[in-house]
Amino acid sequence: MNKNFVAGHWVDGEAYENRNPSDVSDLIGVYAHADVATTEAAIAAAQGASHEWAHATIQKRFDVLDFIGSELLARKDELGALLSREEGKTLAEGVGEVARAGHIFKYHAHQALQPNGEVVPSVRAGLQVQVTREPVGVIGIITPWNFPMAIPAWKIAPALAHGNTVVFKPAELVPGCAWALAEIISRSGLPAGAFNLTMGAGSRVGQTLLNDSRVSALSFTGSTTTGRNVARAAAHRMVPVQLEMGGKNPMVVLNDADLDLAVNCAVQSAFYSTGQRCTAASRIIVTRGVYAAFCDLLVRRTLELRVGHALAADTQIGPVVDPRQLEQDLRYIEIGRSEGATLACGGAPVRRPTEGHFLAPAVFVDCDNRMRICREEIFGPVASVIPAEDYDEALAIANDTPFGLSSGICTTSLRHAAHFQRHAQAGMVMVNAPTAGVDYHVPFGGVKGSSLGGREQGQAAREFFTKVKTTYIAA
Ligand code: ADP
Repeated sequence: MNKNFVAGHWVDGEAYENRNPSDVSDLIGVYAHADVATTEAAIAAAQGASHEWAHATIQKRFDVLDFIGSELLARKDELGALLSREEGKTLAEGVGEVARAGHIFKYHAHQALQPNGEVVPSVRAGLQVQVTREPVGVIGIITPWNFPMAIPAWKIAPALAHGNTVVFKPAELVPGCAWALAEIISRSGLPAGAFNLTMGAGSRVGQTLLNDSRVSALSFTGSTTTGRNVARAAAHRMVPVQLEMGGKNPMVVLNDADLDLAVNCAVQSAFYSTGQRCTAASRIIVTRGVYAAFCDLLVRRTLELRVGHALAADTQIGPVVDPRQLEQDLRYIEIGRSEGATLACGGAPVRRPTEGHFLAPAVFVDCDNRMRICREEIFGPVASVIPAEDYDEALAIANDTPFGLSSGICTTSLRHAAHFQRHAQAGMVMVNAPTAGVDYHVPFGGVKGSSLGGREQGQAAREFFTKVKTTYIAA
């Protein structure tokens, strides 16, 4: 059994089986679920290691993070295969994600070496001001299943780089990646207790992290419902919180777009990673002049997508992650039909030689933005195409959503692209590019209901993972 990692030791727990969504007969491993006492022990260990890690040299922090990054990169094929086997994205996507996690650790290794403050002249005579940054303390990190290596990496790496200690609770569906990452971290030279892994239920392990007064900040990615719960707990304890939640990302296609490119962007944005990305485009808003031609081409391209076992070389779309998510996708497809949208293709489970949760990517056309399929995050391979009269209406529809993570436009008009960049209500804007697929060295995050708290990734991560001290020195 693969165990939890607490205070530098591997600790037992209740056995939990992890299965492959491409082939449920494939048992990936048995993992130990932590209980409340184990989680509390992890928090105590993280608190105990805080002083030592906060005062470690920046060379030591660099070495630890660089070691983790190097090993992830060296083992990207092996760990990428584990990721695809466990989560269901294709092998190319799995390997790519592990490489990205490796780059994230290496990027934050270098961040540890950056200046951590500035000297500012005082407005008063005889004084000097220093603005410095310090670690926050113990960070509770709670992550979802859809990026089981990259999301933990982009939270754990900056937390450690800036001298914090960590208790990491991964999603129940992906303990294999979490454990593999923890195993590498366990050999990285960190002091015992500076990093802890507690696998298990959100309601037990996660909730304990939210409520424990020794946890100084919470970083969460997941559903809006749980995010609200995390925010409530953080507000109650008055600790900093960073939330990344849902999206209902629009992609606008204008009459002057390169149609082939637009269809490519739509297919990638809506269906790659089985549509299970918070940056996936689920609303494709197309102006009238190209609406019919775009829909034809999109349906044709969607029907050509090869759905299958995540590890098969020719698979383009892997399975849905688990039966519960498949049921949710199918429920929304029914809702779309009953609301009057036209299901142009896909939307039904498909059989493959292995027993997995396969779903044919679905395209709804003639949608109205007020429909539930256009308002609520489905988190599956389901795209809704919405007609718009012109650019102004398309922009209004794009912004008419409670979310604001990523927003895309396909156009050859510089004027419209520039206007969209300024007026899209989103944290990330994509011009003639898919809504999903981001760099690791620049900020990631959204506005409105998609995000709360400081931005993740890039230099922006420092804002959340440090606290500022202003010192006045009379000299
Ligand atoms: P998803 O739809 O991605 O599963 P969730 O918000 O349910 O979204 O899960 C994201 C993470 O939040 C997971 O690690 C999950 O275990 C955790 N989680 C779920 N419920 C709670 C809770 N009450 N308190 C803390 N964490 C939770």
